[in-house]
Amino acid sequence: MRVPDLQLHRPTSLDEVFAATQRHGEYDLLGGGTDLLCNYKWRLNVRPQVISLRHLPELREELGGALAAGRTLYEVEHCSILQELCPEVPRAASKIATPLIRRSATLGGNLHLDTRCWHFNQTAEWRMAHDSCLKAEADQCRVQPVPGDVCVATYSGDLAPVLMGYGAIAVVAGPEGERSVALKDYFALDGIRRFADRRSGELMVRLDLPQDASEWTVRYEKLRLRATFDFPEGGVAVAVRWTDGPGSEVAAARIATTAYDSIPRLHEDLAARLVGRCIEEELAEELGASLRDQVRPMKNTSMSPAYRKKMARVLCKRAILACLPSS
Ligand SMILES: Cc1cc2nc3c(=O)[nH]c(=O)nc-3n(C[C@H](O)[C@H](O)[C@H](O)COP(=O)(O)OP(=O)(O)OC[C@H]3O[C@@H](n4cnc5c(N)ncnc54)[C@H](O)[C@@H]3O)c2cc1C
Repeated sequence: MRVPDLQLHRPTSLDEVFAATQRHGEYDLLGGGTDLLCNYKWRLNVRPQVISLRHLPELREELGGALAAGRTLYEVEHCSILQELCPEVPRAASKIATPLIRRSATLGGNLHLDTRCWHFNQTAEWRMAHDSCLKAEADQCRVQPVPGDVCVATYSGDLAPVLMGYGAIAVVAGPEGERSVALKDYFALDGIRRFADRRSGELMVRLDLPQDASEWTVRYEKLRLRATFDFPEGGVAVAVRWTDGPGSEVAAARIATTAYDSIPRLHEDLAARLVGRCIEEELAEELGASLRDQVRPMKNTSMSPAYRKKMARVLCKRAILACLPSS
């Protein structure tokens, strides 16, 4: 399968990116290409102009810091600063895709990973034989066919829930300058639109972590078909800040999921139930059961929604108990 004809731009500064985005209305940004170009090969929403972000110093370590959007997942996995500051981020990165893909794939690309669905991630021939889907070239969703409904394709990035656990803030740059938005508010519950307030010409430059990031214990549990390769079919990150050292009462908590929705989602109501308590098996079981009741996976990935829902309880319980120091 071949990448279709397109014009590739290789800007070397943000100003050149903004000039290109203003000149061309229909464009895509390109990180490592491990998602976008796979979709292009399947003729999914191909744009004639593609702007590569590979040569921007602003997206590399020198200017953007440890969580610069242009860092590869391999670099994230092996970064000693991140091992100290937010160790679950490199650990989660090490479980994404394959070593070869992680050498090209970038942090920015992972956070902007396109939503996925059985009816979307198919070849053009397959789609033509099956009436396609709302996110490709048809006018109705084949998973939840309600007229005028939004796309329910699944968000399947691993890093977003973990970074939300650390309270990460996305820094985006556009022709109007830089702005920051909490990662938890970055995404929109619509598998096509995907981002809440994406302005024309903007791109993600880096993630900032709050000052107290290293005080949080974060654990991420992931469900997938093949442990060496596949996208998450469910993922739960649990983050706790202790009152008085590891294993003491929980002072603050966050719980975030991926692969259960069109967005990575923070479950603030569930996390609040950890606060003021010491973690023990019964509490972990109780919160796991509540998460299972909350999530609404769609029938659009390899595993059945019923199994993925069941596993939300297991993943959540495991992640909560893994926060304890003896785990
Ligand atoms: C076989 C296989 C298995 C995989 N398994 C997993 C997995 O287990 N877990 C997982 O999380 N992912 C998985 N992936 C997806 C992979 O991790 C992502 O494709 C990768 O992180 C995307 O990064 P990229 O730089 O290649 O993005 P690209 O493909 O270049 O771009 C992806 C999207 O991000 C946008 N983008 C890129 N950088 C920026 C930026 N700085 N600002 C704004 N928008 C930007 C692009 O415009 C595009 O829309 C898998 C992929 C494959 C092929």
